[in-house]
Amino acid sequence: MIIMNSEPVLIYSPLHINHKVSLDCPDQPERLDEALEELIDIVTVQDAPNGEEYLPLFHTPDYIHKVRTICNELGRGEINTIIDNCFSQSTYQAACYAVGATIEAAKYAQHARRAFAFVRPPGHHAWSDKEGGFCVFNNVAIATEFLRQQGERKILIIDVDLHLGDGTIEYVTKTPNTSYFSINCAGLWPHGDQDQFERCENIFLPSGTSDARYIQVLERRLTKTIERENPSIIAVSAGFDTCVHDSNTFEETFGGSFNLTSDSYQALWKILDRSLIPYFAVLEGGYDPLSIMDGVESFFNRE
Ligand SMILES: [Zn+2]
Repeated sequence: MIIMNSEPVLIYSPLHINHKVSLDCPDQPERLDEALEELIDIVTVQDAPNGEEYLPLFHTPDYIHKVRTICNELGRGEINTIIDNCFSQSTYQAACYAVGATIEAAKYAQHARRAFAFVRPPGHHAWSDKEGGFCVFNNVAIATEFLRQQGERKILIIDVDLHLGDGTIEYVTKTPNTSYFSINCAGLWPHGDQDQFERCENIFLPSGTSDARYIQVLERRLTKTIERENPSIIAVSAGFDTCVHDSNTFEETFGGSFNLTSDSYQALWKILDRSLIPYFAVLEGGYDPLSIMDGVESFFNRE
């Protein structure tokens, strides 16, 4: 059991801005930088390193080659869209730094210091061999595999994004000494059910869920899961598309939403603080900068 040091770190790469997307994609570059402008006085920011060397911890050589080639073949300003994923000339590079930031956050957790990888593109819908849902490389799966290969006894991934992390589930179902806990909005892509996947506990709450119900589920279910799994480290896929600000803007895009405020995110971090298990977080969804501000601020400032 390790007590986490008090001053957390935000790990960020300005290169994310070069991952260009089409105008109708919710993962706009401004979502990070507008939030960061407001957060800059309360966070310690550290530059992310390049994480390219870690991609094979989860992704197939063919898929890594495919992403690199697509990006290399694009001209300046060109955008290639595969289903709802956008690729531009620098997407591969931005995605490598998102992985690097997440690995760095995981290393901080190993040294009992909290860290938040503030990245785009997000990762939890990326499978070992395909992109999906604005995700290119699976940041949290790669960082978890890094920790496992470092000898961590057990890693629990907690995914609080509005959507099920189907790519992360692919990783966990194939990987011993890992487990996955998620709270999602029922009825949304990429779908799944409660007991479908080995080592995964997926809770689906109705669209419109607000703080009281969400916090009750966190207290009842997550606390028990942490006790039962007894991980040596916890990785959080921190998606803030559950926030009321995203609900206002993106409910129709996603087909459902939650109405959470920072009260729910505070409750999550407090449960993790109480567990005395080291943890780190990586940004997933959250498309209105106000949602990201509320979520990230709660990681750094306990009420
Ligand atoms: Zn999401």
